[in-house]
Amino acid sequence: MKTNESIADQTARFISMDEAFGAHNYHPLPVVLTRGEGCFVWDVEGKRYFDFLSGYSAVNQGHCHPKIVDALIRQAQRLTLTSRAFHSEQLAEYTKYVTSYFGYDKVLPMNTGVEAVETAVKLARKWGYSKKKVPDGMAKIITLEGNFHGRTVNVISFSTDDSARKGFGPFVDGYTTIPYNDLHALELALEDPNVVGFLIEPIQGEAGVVVPDDGYLSQAFALCKSKNVLFMADEIQTGLSRTGRLLACDHEAVRPDVLLLGKALSGGMLPVSAVLADDEVMLSISPGEHGSTYGGNPLACAVAIASLDVLKEENLAEHAAQLGSFFRNELAKINHPAIKTIRGKGLLNALVISHRDPQAAYRLCHEMMHRGLLAKPTHGDKIRFAPPLIISQAQVEEAIAIIREAFSTLE
Ligand SMILES: *Cc1c(COP(=O)(O)O)cnc(C)c1O
Repeated sequence: MKTNESIADQTARFISMDEAFGAHNYHPLPVVLTRGEGCFVWDVEGKRYFDFLSGYSAVNQGHCHPKIVDALIRQAQRLTLTSRAFHSEQLAEYTKYVTSYFGYDKVLPMNTGVEAVETAVKLARKWGYSKKKVPDGMAKIITLEGNFHGRTVNVISFSTDDSARKGFGPFVDGYTTIPYNDLHALELALEDPNVVGFLIEPIQGEAGVVVPDDGYLSQAFALCKSKNVLFMADEIQTGLSRTGRLLACDHEAVRPDVLLLGKALSGGMLPVSAVLADDEVMLSISPGEHGSTYGGNPLACAVAIASLDVLKEENLAEHAAQLGSFFRNELAKINHPAIKTIRGKGLLNALVISHRDPQAAYRLCHEMMHRGLLAKPTHGDKIRFAPPLIISQAQVEEAIAIIREAFSTLE
């Protein structure tokens, strides 16, 4: 490293290093981060930003939450990995803790979100063959247009996003994809007796925070029940207090048959995901049929317990509900003609931008970045706003001022 390098040159140097040696599978904003605390991150030039992405809702508890960091350090000094060939004290404690926290008989621990999705798909198929008596090899799962469930070949097999699929075939069979928020389409799809599961994001996060009509989740759940089909909620982004309730399904008192968690399950510390279900479903998988070397490792278990503790101790669901309404009201007051829609629940929100410049959302994110707030445009015309849930009302007001100023640059 050159000693006389100016601070501003560092940003350019790190970005060009990243571009030279890292695969080009992302298109990040031109900011290089080095530290985080609460709802803030700092770049290598010492500038502070509000983090309004929160690692795609992995950092609900705020960056480097002291209680979670403490659990991580203490467990890291004691035991980090046993593999599942042996029991561990931490895994035992965690399985008891997480099942009583969410009210399920069993948990199956994995690492990344997409692994939780793969697990749920395998579980539904296994349950379908062993319990529902679907003919071998015929099981179907209903998925929804606009879905995002991760990046494996199987999971992109039922994506409807061309950029996620193009060039990655051949794909995996066994999926029927229907429009989101359409109960009639679900009713028709459920007529197929080989359907074993319905995989749904209670709010579609990556699609740009698409919130279904009130009553859709509870009616979809009832339809699934009437056909003995598992309702599988992917709450990897919407769960863990993000939308103002512990789970987004709680808004409609729906208890999924299969619940998928990830992201904020570790407060942003390491990849930790989980699938929860009752015995009738979970025990369809037997020893040797599924697993993961790191799944349920002692470090992950200790971190997950601390992360879930924080959600309750700090009342983050109630806080997200209150500040979410406040945030949407304040956004509405900006009253800029380019704001077509404001939508969301709790602190999972998005703006839909309508402007003659197709780059408007991207330009706005740059303007916000220069003023100290990080948010990422998605699908060209949407900007998601999802700060850590520990943000205060005064901080939301400060963030709104930045967003308003960014809009004032858009003629
Ligand atoms: C992020 C996300 C996933 C995938 O999680 P990874 O940890 O990136 O594999 C799956 N489902 C939803 C709804 C998500 O938001």
